[in-house]
Amino acid sequence: MPALAERLHRVQAEVADAARAAHRDPGEITTIVVTKFHPAALVRALYGLGVRDVGESRHQEAQAKAAELSDLAGLTWHFIGQLQANKARQVKRYARVIHSVDRSSLVDALASDDTPVDVFVQLNLTDDPARGGVRPDALESLAEQILARPVLTLRGVMAVAPLGAEPARAFGAVRAASQRLRALAPQATAISAGMSGDFAAAIAAGATHLRIGTAITGNRPERP
Ligand SMILES: *Cc1c(COP(=O)(O)O)cnc(C)c1O
Repeated sequence: MPALAERLHRVQAEVADAARAAHRDPGEITTIVVTKFHPAALVRALYGLGVRDVGESRHQEAQAKAAELSDLAGLTWHFIGQLQANKARQVKRYARVIHSVDRSSLVDALASDDTPVDVFVQLNLTDDPARGGVRPDALESLAEQILARPVLTLRGVMAVAPLGAEPARAFGAVRAASQRLRALAPQATAISAGMSGDFAAAIAAGATHLRIGTAITGNRPERP
């Protein structure tokens, strides 16, 4: 898969350039390759190229791929999509990190067994409540609920820049929310932000976890 390797290496170089331009250490930035809608074979090829963090947004699809690829030691699955509380415990069987925690029922469900999991609070930067995420002003109360659950490790905040919005502005709001969160939870320093079209702006605003799909994988096939 020479095209895949080329795209991966190009994005890795761009991430490193954006980090240096922001006077940051590229080593403090984790690139999660978003493989949703792609077959397990693509994840295996990425693994062969050194990728160890992959992101998925639909439980059934992710569960099937994780089962098929259980032989890949050290591969971390990140769940980045909207999550129903009744699927929470199943997602924890393969995902080590959940980026889309946005309501207390989900916190309760994720804490209802003793499997540890890392979580991000997803912020909704739009006016549309149907998009995933909490309103930024509800961040602290949800964070407090997470902090009260020892089985959950609060890593930080996650956001998707709204379509059509200026990414730098959106990510500035994410950075401000991250600073507020750190006042409450000093160890929750991570920021999950930045996708194929806007990762350089996210890095400039302090993103530590990029979720990059198409720039690395190529176009996604039709939804399976
Ligand atoms: C699909 C997806 C991405 C990756 O998007 P690309 O534009 O393909 O890089 C990142 N974050 C979330 C939450 C997604 O659903």
